[in-house]
Amino acid sequence: MDYQKKFRVKPGEKLRLKKLDPSFTGEHESEAIAKEATEHSRAKLAHEQNLLYAEHKHSVLIVLQAMDAGGKDGTIKHVFSGVNPQGVHVASFKQPTEPELAHDFLWRVHPHTPGRGQISIFNRSHYEDVLVTRVHKLIDKATWTRRYREICDFEALLVQSGTTILKFFLHISKEEQLARFAQRLEDPGRNWKISEADYTERALWDDYIEAFEDAIRATSTHEAPWYVIPSNAKWFRNLAVSKIIADAMADLHLAYPPPSVNLAEIRRKYHAAAHEAVGGGKKA
Ligand code: ATP
Ligand code: MG
Repeated sequence: MDYQKKFRVKPGEKLRLKKLDPSFTGEHESEAIAKEATEHSRAKLAHEQNLLYAEHKHSVLIVLQAMDAGGKDGTIKHVFSGVNPQGVHVASFKQPTEPELAHDFLWRVHPHTPGRGQISIFNRSHYEDVLVTRVHKLIDKATWTRRYREICDFEALLVQSGTTILKFFLHISKEEQLARFAQRLEDPGRNWKISEADYTERALWDDYIEAFEDAIRATSTHEAPWYVIPSNAKWFRNLAVSKIIADAMADLHLAYPPPSVNLAEIRRKYHAAAHEAVGGGKKA
């Protein structure tokens, strides 16, 4: 299945999250059946990242947004498990600090965008400034509408500079969120993840959904598309996200750069002599 096509939000498309099934798992009935496809995508992603790093021409920005317990952390952990850490930067955006609040909302984001050869993953992002701030009535409609335009301009600038942008909304149901909160309460290994805010924000679920729908609709452009990923099944989420990233990178036709030195000369002039010096070529 072409997940890029299936889950991409087309520019201007009217998005109704209620109509999209968060439990969708495509042609895969179970995690076991999807295992091979998942491994394939993960390996492909690792290969593409190797090329991206070596070629040092393009960069990739991954934006992850979701409701609380939507699986941003788990996605990063699983999807990028095969990738060389040298070429990846993860930036997590929490409540803004005083200096951050004293600047425009993109100020804290820009330094974390990927340089050539790099992948940056945003765990939350500049979109918080049209989501949580809107839901908590810290900004008015004129402000979030203006910010949509500013976000589109900012992302267009990054694309112009050689960055591929892929934005993912990890779509879970309200029931699934509660089940994950329960796990966090019960499992000692997850206790540290639960907070009161998770429940107070959950009470604002409908407002968040509306804010997400508007923001995604206004900012899913041809160059910087949003993908709404069914995420109740974690294994399917991992498969879909890794496949979309790997396929988008393959579309860049990345290639190893040609050697910057004369290999034949190095072989003749240096390598043969070095080989000789360690007794190479002699029979024991
Ligand atoms: P987890 O899923 O593990 O709980 P998290 O991303 O929710 O991780 P937290 O420290 O729990 O991390 O929450 C970060 C909080 O910071 C969120 O409530 C988020 O809405 C808030 N936040 C992020 N960016 C902004 C912003 N620009 N303005 C206001 N609040 C923000
Ligand atoms: Mg949280």
